[in-house]
Amino acid sequence: MSTQASGRARFEELRTEALACTRCRLREQRTQVVFGMGDPAADLMFVGEGPGAEEDRQGLPFVGRSGKLLDRLMAEEMGLDRTSAYIANVVKCRPPQNRDPRPDEISACRPYLEEQIELIDPAVVVTLGNFSSKLLLDTTTGITKLRGRAYDWNGRVLVPTLHPAAVLRGGGDAMALVRADLVRAKAACSGGVVDLVESASVARNASR
Ligand code: SF4
Repeated sequence: MSTQASGRARFEELRTEALACTRCRLREQRTQVVFGMGDPAADLMFVGEGPGAEEDRQGLPFVGRSGKLLDRLMAEEMGLDRTSAYIANVVKCRPPQNRDPRPDEISACRPYLEEQIELIDPAVVVTLGNFSSKLLLDTTTGITKLRGRAYDWNGRVLVPTLHPAAVLRGGGDAMALVRADLVRAKAACSGGVVDLVESASVARNASR
């Protein structure tokens, strides 16, 4: 089997494992596991927080109001639709009443996300909101301070931005910030010149 074919086979195996996962308490109230969607060989990956009610119903990420906004901003700022990217979340099951995912739930689910990233092998990762940005950059610094830059992250470019749900709450100013971040991500995808911040320095600064 070629390396590419074995990667695809492992990706399907990982999905099958996740769909039956009982590693954390989020299994109790989910309708279904939301593993992710899109092109598993995409150069661009989005990582959000966790499924909401609509995502839990459909088994797909970002299909509610936030997802529609993400689709619109991807189209307007990057000229892309979601089939040309891969979209996943930090936790694959819906936290009840849309509460924040807890640290032990994030730890339990983290291996799925890490292996998804490894197998998809995207050049650019856009983290949407606090949870995915802090997790992948290994920092306690919040998204409002992290965003506005691109980070050199494990040989990839990581662009943190606000979660679309925060844009829906925050209006025009928040929208403008996300637009600017997606333009930055697009430049990184097309090999354009992007000033990169060393991701390890974020963790160092956060611990000071
Ligand atoms: S959130 Fe992740 S770790 Fe928890 S049950 Fe769902 S798939 Fe498993």
